[in-house]
Amino acid sequence: MNTKISDSISANWTDSAIDCYELGGNCEKCFLYMVIFRYSPSPCKMKYTVKKLLRKVGLPYKNEERAYAKEGEISI
Ligand SMILES: [Zn+2]
Repeated sequence: MNTKISDSISANWTDSAIDCYELGGNCEKCFLYMVIFRYSPSPCKMKYTVKKLLRKVGLPYKNEERAYAKEGEISI
């Protein structure tokens, strides 16, 4: 399956992953998405990575007050 995300990608929170997480996986608000994926035939898979990170690594912040988007709130 092409949609499978390798474990190496989702081992750590990247800046892009945190951005995506902060936007609740909403690509329409995502700067990266608007710049790159809007004109790309391949869809943004960052939110899938975010879901994996939430499961494997947990929240990207030590201060959970900043974390307003939880795993269940990311719509795919
Ligand atoms: Zn996205």
